[in-house]
Amino acid sequence: MDFAKTKELFHLPEGVIYLDGNSLGPLPKAAAGRVAQTLEAEWGEMLIKGWNDAGWMALPGRIGDRIGRLIGAESGHVMTGDTLSIKVWQALAAALALNPGRKVILSDTGNFPSDIYMAEGLTTLLGQGYEVRTVAPEDVAGALSGDIAVLMLTEVDYRTGRMHDMAALTKAAHAHGIVTVWDLAHSAGAIEVDLAGAGADFAVGCTYKYLNGGPGAPAFIYVAPRHAEAAKPALSGWLGHEAPFAFDLDYRPAPGVARMRVGTPPIVQLAALEAAMDAWDGVEMADVRAASMRLTDLFIAEVEASCPTLTLASPRDATRRGSQVSFHHPHGYAVMQALIARGVIGDFRAPDILRFGFTPLYIGEQEVRAAAAILADILATGAWDAPQFHARKAVT
Ligand SMILES: *Cc1c(COP(=O)(O)O)cnc(C)c1O
Repeated sequence: MDFAKTKELFHLPEGVIYLDGNSLGPLPKAAAGRVAQTLEAEWGEMLIKGWNDAGWMALPGRIGDRIGRLIGAESGHVMTGDTLSIKVWQALAAALALNPGRKVILSDTGNFPSDIYMAEGLTTLLGQGYEVRTVAPEDVAGALSGDIAVLMLTEVDYRTGRMHDMAALTKAAHAHGIVTVWDLAHSAGAIEVDLAGAGADFAVGCTYKYLNGGPGAPAFIYVAPRHAEAAKPALSGWLGHEAPFAFDLDYRPAPGVARMRVGTPPIVQLAALEAAMDAWDGVEMADVRAASMRLTDLFIAEVEASCPTLTLASPRDATRRGSQVSFHHPHGYAVMQALIARGVIGDFRAPDILRFGFTPLYIGEQEVRAAAAILADILATGAWDAPQFHARKAVT
């Protein structure tokens, strides 16, 4: 796979080494033209006719299928829309309803807080003894039991990149009658995912990280074909209705994953996402994964050879981590600010983690070596210990 070609598809500012595509992917060059076309030729000229004539109404499912190819979903079982937090809530509500009589959502303490917050919001609303239980990531398998309704896990830990074994945990969960919800926020476009092969029940994810859909790009949800007609959409909006334009006062869910649509889709943002998905045409996730493991191994080797004050926070075995590498440093925030000032963009995650994402579509060995050298220089010279690098910004 020649990633020089995919690199050409992205706008990367001069002098920047971008190691934060795991938080917000860069701008696909084609997105500006595609968004302009949607604004001018579609919205501008077609006005409301765009819903039919420009295919706006079918766009969320069309893009869902293109994401589905990257995550091993059966065709026609992924829908885009809303934000990931909302899709987490939707998947959890549907999963709980498939397992009546059980009241526990099990997750792990490494999960992204929003997933836990949404689960708690849902169980609080439901009342009647529903609860969220969290255990350490390594204790999940041992905590599966017959009282658990739903296992909700994020496959790749956002801080450390540690990966859960989706196939094994799904199988173990099913053996206890537990329904699974997998969050693929740091998996989609980063690692090989085989939802169908793993027998996953529900999956959700966002498109602004490794899929490069842009800030605020819509999320996606997958419902396994065997649940597609049974899953109850708790967010029963009109566009998930079987016949939205019948304006019937009785809600009847649309067939399959279309019932996970809620309201009017964000067409301008979807246009940017559709352009971003073009970059994946002809790209196989196996090639991306192989390149990503080489890049992350190389970064760890370079950093450990030249930065003695950093300690690895990610699994050393490439097969057990996603497409990111994290290091602990007691002044991680200031070190990252100093790095960003030198053009190497990663991010900081409290309390002490320097996080770097590796995205073979536009990052290669040369950038990895250069980034490690700049990091070594900042640490060796103490350049990070300047007042301007210690002042915290709102978004880290
Ligand atoms: C990035 C991320 C989110 C963010 O949710 P939004 O609703 O898109 O803001 C949620 N969960 C996980 C696991 C994430 O990595």
